[in-house]
Amino acid sequence: MATPISFTKPVCLCCGTSGTSAVWAQATDLEYRTTNELFNILKCSTCGSMFIHPVPEDRLSEIYPSNYYSFAQSQDSLVHRIKTWLDKRYFRPLLKQVPGNSLSALDVGGGAGWELQVLKQADNRIAFTQVVDLDVDAEKLALANGHQYFCGRIEDFTTDKKFDVILMLNLIEHVANPLAVLAQARNLLSPSGIILIKTPNIDSWDARIFRNKNWGGFHCPRHWTLFTKESLTGLVEKADLKVVQANYTQGAPFWTTSVLFALERLGWVSITRERPVVYHPFFGILSALFAGFDFIRGRFAKTSQMFFILGNKN
Ligand SMILES: [Zn+2]
Repeated sequence: MATPISFTKPVCLCCGTSGTSAVWAQATDLEYRTTNELFNILKCSTCGSMFIHPVPEDRLSEIYPSNYYSFAQSQDSLVHRIKTWLDKRYFRPLLKQVPGNSLSALDVGGGAGWELQVLKQADNRIAFTQVVDLDVDAEKLALANGHQYFCGRIEDFTTDKKFDVILMLNLIEHVANPLAVLAQARNLLSPSGIILIKTPNIDSWDARIFRNKNWGGFHCPRHWTLFTKESLTGLVEKADLKVVQANYTQGAPFWTTSVLFALERLGWVSITRERPVVYHPFFGILSALFAGFDFIRGRFAKTSQMFFILGNKN
């Protein structure tokens, strides 16, 4: 049964406007099977973003199961190794733009800090690394890897330090107040530092194709805001930051997830709570195929994932 939307007036999580949204799609957790409930994905006619309503803010322990992929990442898998190699190649030229002999880096939602390890390998000037994450279990591993760890929300993290690089990779779409998160990132940013954001793009081909078929990018009910390039740019400006660069990048996981759901509807594959989508044997090969597909397509079309580089104004 769909969640009733009439009890509270939906407020857009991106632009804060109320009463200008309509249901665009409905989805449920086909990926991890934590709930059968149907969630409404509303489209804001003011800014073009989409958001889940109501926001399941008090259900985190239910909707993030213990086998959630960012908690249980395998360091040895082929997909992981390819991702590390690609990330290093992506980070290297970006880090070169940041001046200084000794740099500090913060990963918001960084878990055990493996992306910070990649960052360190990409640039040996990175001397101080900090993780901010809600995951209690990741703390021990992060500390063992030489990172500082704050267990909590970025809005509640206090420090005298400023960071030259702030990572928010697949994070901003998971939070209840994206503006507060960006504003806090600005507070923590050094004058010539950069913030890297990766987030789904709702204004994409696959989002429209799989709109009524539980599109993988909904990552329902864990993605709470889905942005467009324009709506995220508007939010960045509201947070008193500037967009240095914005690009579309491959959205292979969303294609793969959507296709696995379609194959399941045909009865060809099975997805269970014990073996969610990301652990399905076809996940790796389909991801590689779609990454190649989006790599070519991305040259002339909007793909379903975006990379933003932000900096301070002036
Ligand atoms: Zn809006």
